Amino acid sequence: MIIKTRFAPSPTGNLHIGSIRTALYSWLFAKNNLGSFILRIEDTDIKRYKENSIENIINGLKWLNIDWDEGPYFQSKRIDRYNHIINNMIKKKLAYKCYCSKEELEKNKIEQTLIGKKIKYNGKCRNLTNFFNKDNKSFVVRFRNPDHGIVKFKDKIRGTIIFNNNELDDLIIKRTDGIPTYNFCVVVDDWDMGITHVIRGEEHINNTPRQINIIKAIGARIPIYAHVSMIVNKSGEKISKRFNNIDILQYKKSGYLPEALLNYIVRLGWSYGNQEIFSLNDMKKLFNLNNISKSPSILNVNKLNWLNKYYLSKLPKQYMINYLTNFFKKKNININNGPKINDLYNIFHNRCNTLKEINNLCYIFYNTPNYSKVNLINKYLNLETKEILNKLLNKFTLINIWSLLIINTSIKEISIELNLNFSEIAMPLRLAITGMVNSPPIAYIIYLMGQKKVLKYINNAIKFILINNKHY
Ligand code: GLU
Ligand code: ZN
Repeated sequence: MIIKTRFAPSPTGNLHIGSIRTALYSWLFAKNNLGSFILRIEDTDIKRYKENSIENIINGLKWLNIDWDEGPYFQSKRIDRYNHIINNMIKKKLAYKCYCSKEELEKNKIEQTLIGKKIKYNGKCRNLTNFFNKDNKSFVVRFRNPDHGIVKFKDKIRGTIIFNNNELDDLIIKRTDGIPTYNFCVVVDDWDMGITHVIRGEEHINNTPRQINIIKAIGARIPIYAHVSMIVNKSGEKISKRFNNIDILQYKKSGYLPEALLNYIVRLGWSYGNQEIFSLNDMKKLFNLNNISKSPSILNVNKLNWLNKYYLSKLPKQYMINYLTNFFKKKNININNGPKINDLYNIFHNRCNTLKEINNLCYIFYNTPNYSKVNLINKYLNLETKEILNKLLNKFTLINIWSLLIINTSIKEISIELNLNFSEIAMPLRLAITGMVNSPPIAYIIYLMGQKKVLKYINNAIKFILINNKHY
């Protein structure tokens, strides 16, 4: 049997971590078994369509290097195929037209609620005779779900799952506007496309018995199911399209690498011993459906940062140099006004969590710090620290040969002179030079920044303190 899996997103919003995980698991399972993976856009629910979401899905997958062997298929282009099957089902009485009005259905719901019954279509149109007056009435098509017996399937992650047929509704498979619905299209597509394994989120477990009943009715093959548990944030809130949804491309903008994100996502619910680092090749080689956890997975940004830092430090030097060169070009920054790219690479490449952090740090060499934008600035730039800055300014002015050693010695001498420890000196200095509370070793920054800018920025900081502390 050739393994075939699919990723079948609806274009109703952005791709988030949960949907990517479904795509990744489906893709890896196919790759691990030398099978194929298809992309299918489930776009029949026009009302919920969100503009740009198809581009967003495709760009997200491409960025992460998740490629597909077939597709993208679009359900909206297959309406004739679905209707053909629905018409046959009506002929064979596997489905029927339902003419009930919204009001009738609503009334039915209220009645059932009042007597404490489970809300379910009451079956009024199941056996309409030819004498029923259908003049111009709009209708939906409902699937004739078996009214007794059970539906049983073996989920690869959760084991055997059983539903009673009498709990299942006669599902609407075609709406009044003539468009077939998700639960029906998915069955026809998986059949036509030869899908062997359906890997998807646990929110679809309740759909599965309905889909299996339709599969049986039309004589299709039942695929193997694997329902992956949900992802929650630190406070236990669910991550889904509607809640806590972070667009996957947002991670790109924030400077995460696709390798790191995939490594992070694959471990959200899947494990292979204690291994934490998985290259794409490792994943393809090792992934299977046996080690997927049944419990929810918890998002952990620290772990993502840790992985991203790891992958950043492994990138070839030339890659990072090109990256930085492009970044400066995009920002219209003339590199000749600052340190050599090679020096920037040396200081930052294994110190930062994200590319964005690297960008921000590199930026300080080309941008005058704006102290008024810094939180708690008065804690570091005040009349007391002004004395420290004055001393530093004098000392730095006198340096003839600007070297890392001399800069370090100068800071140390002042700390002895003022009887302060290094960090008490470094903090105001760091703020004055970078406008940031955190940075790589300040002496090195000062060295790379160059004497002229350093003197200017310390002066600026002193002026800032004076203006800020003027009392009228
Ligand atoms: N289109 C469905 C969704 O986006 C997925 C359907 C499926 O995987 O069966 O949730
Ligand atoms: Zn009806």
